[in-house]
Amino acid sequence: MKMNVQVILKSALVALLSLVASIRADAQRAVRPSAETKAIKQRIASLCGPQMRGRGYVGRGAERAAGYIARQLQEMGLDSVYTQMYSFPVNTFPGAVSLKLGKREAVPGVDFLVDAASAPFAGEGERIKTVDLLKYASALPTASAESPLPLPPARVRLLKNADSAKKLLADPRSLPDVLPRGAYIIPTRGKMTWTVSTDTTANGATIFYVQDSALPRRVRRADATVGAEWEAATRQQNVIGMIRGTEVPDSFVVFTAHYDHLGMMGKGTVFPGASDNASGTAAVLWLAGHFAAARPRYSVLFIFFSGEEAGLLGSRWYTQHPTVPLERMRMLVNLDIMGDASGGVTAVNATEFPPQFATLTRLADSAGVTVKSRGKAANSDHYFFSEAGVPAFFLYSNGGAGYYHDVFDAPKTLSLAGVDGVVKLLVRFAGAVMGE
Ligand SMILES: [Zn+2]
Repeated sequence: MKMNVQVILKSALVALLSLVASIRADAQRAVRPSAETKAIKQRIASLCGPQMRGRGYVGRGAERAAGYIARQLQEMGLDSVYTQMYSFPVNTFPGAVSLKLGKREAVPGVDFLVDAASAPFAGEGERIKTVDLLKYASALPTASAESPLPLPPARVRLLKNADSAKKLLADPRSLPDVLPRGAYIIPTRGKMTWTVSTDTTANGATIFYVQDSALPRRVRRADATVGAEWEAATRQQNVIGMIRGTEVPDSFVVFTAHYDHLGMMGKGTVFPGASDNASGTAAVLWLAGHFAAARPRYSVLFIFFSGEEAGLLGSRWYTQHPTVPLERMRMLVNLDIMGDASGGVTAVNATEFPPQFATLTRLADSAGVTVKSRGKAANSDHYFFSEAGVPAFFLYSNGGAGYYHDVFDAPKTLSLAGVDGVVKLLVRFAGAVMGE
């Protein structure tokens, strides 16, 4: 059989156009976000907004986030909304943080991070003394805060072989504490991860972890500034909202998320903490809105913790000063990192509470959500609750770009894929735990 060339081309074109149309329709279906996703996305944007300053300790960022959360809960019409105040020490960086190596200005957060325990420092045109730490191999095992390494005198030192030296220390984490006063440049490579410190370096060391790629081959002088400020007692708050059950008000399902993040490293460098943990906070806020409208038989408590990044301090405080008897908590679910559940979620403590995990996986299977099992871990705010006997899971999402504790963890990097499925699953899980 022979076909006219024109007919062949025409039918090929029609086929091609309909293929394009169906791909576009699929794409539109895939990208059109659900109502849950839209609400979560909007709250993540608010929690990561410039006024929140990374929800840390510079410019009262965490306090602003707490105010936002409390207002949201009040608008939803929860039966009670209150805060729980407590305090802890923290090292903060409200001043300038900058580093110029030779003629090259390094970019904070991208080219370098300062150690979170760093002491303040200011120096211009300082001569850099290069020190090979392996030359101190014999002093390293016995070095301590009281007898720091006997390094040659200098205001700014560049440390060679810091990683190898750490292995020789009695405690590999103690390198900042066994250095004498002064500023240090420690070359590093790969992902940089910042943190919060409730301590300062023992002898007043100021440490810059600098990417190899940002370190000129030969550098003799540096301008270095770290505007650190030690706060002996920062006042922080847990924000709590409660919905009173219509039939069994003394039985509680509890949803928790930490809203604090790392804040700022200097005047211009914000750690937005979109994934960690604006995402979990927004998801728990969605749950609060849902239950406030649904009016369940049982009570539901929502706790938004501060101080998580400083060492689970908010949740520890809460379990020591519970506002609801811990034995009345039938189940607690903590969400921390919930920005992309395209690979499902992992449940920490799954092995600790097998009947509850069986219920969760049964519901998850029918909802098409993958739930992986993990054992006990002290890696988020569920920990002190399960230690105190409260059945508690910590769910984190599996997926996404993997930005963590860095300046790149911004809202635009979160797909929020599958997060709506997770929050809807948790609504059903709460009901199932309460025998519905
Ligand atoms: Zn977190």
